[in-house]
This record gives sequence, structure tokens and C-alpha cells, in this order.
Amino acid sequence: MMLVRSQPRPQARRKTYTLYPVQDLKHKVDVWAVKLRVNPKLVRVQEMRRKWGSCSSAGTITLARDLCDKDEGFQNYVIVHELLHLRYPTHGRMFKVLMTMHVPGWRELEKKLSLR
Ligand SMILES: [Zn+2]
Repeated sequence: MMLVRSQPRPQARRKTYTLYPVQDLKHKVDVWAVKLRVNPKLVRVQEMRRKWGSCSSAGTITLARDLCDKDEGFQNYVIVHELLHLRYPTHGRMFKVLMTMHVPGWRELEKKLSLR
């Protein structure tokens, strides 16, 4: 008799199909902004070749369009990172404390991306 091992299942993807990916991403920014008590002046989603997100000193948050295709954990990481810059311009101690509080796995995710 032969015991056949079943193949491991591919990792379940949490990505859900949506008709309005940009709007959905912006909505996530709004939800996080309330949670983090920050108030971005403008949230833009556009093509960004070298970065996933940025935050200007004038309070504009810009996110890369292809962030829409990433899983939610990664999206949250980028969103929280940029929103926290509205309060903390540098990646100082408080910035890191709050990142850990809201996105516990952020250090792992950080290895993959380029943010400002
Ligand atoms: Zn940054």
C-alpha cells in the first residue's frame, strides 16, 4: 500500500477583487487617518516608479497606483508609515514606537520597500 501525500496548498490570498481599487485604497487612508488622529490635506494615488508612498511637508500623501494590487498587510504598512510622517517627519523613536503599535510586522515588510 502506498500513502500519497497531498500537495501543500498554495497560500490563500487575501486580496479581494474590487471595481474601485483606487477609491478603496483612499478609503483605507481615511480610516487610518482617523485612527492615527492625523489629517492629510490631500491623498493622491498615482504612478510611482521608485517608491510606494511619500508624504510632503505640505501634508499631501501620495501612494503608488500598484499598491492597489498588494495584500492588505502591505497596504496598511505603507499607509501608516506615510500618515505618521504628518506627525513625525523623521523615522525617530516615536515614529518607530507607533509603527510597532499599529503594524507589528513592519520591520519585516520594510525590507521590501522604498518609502519616504
Ligand atoms: Zn518614511
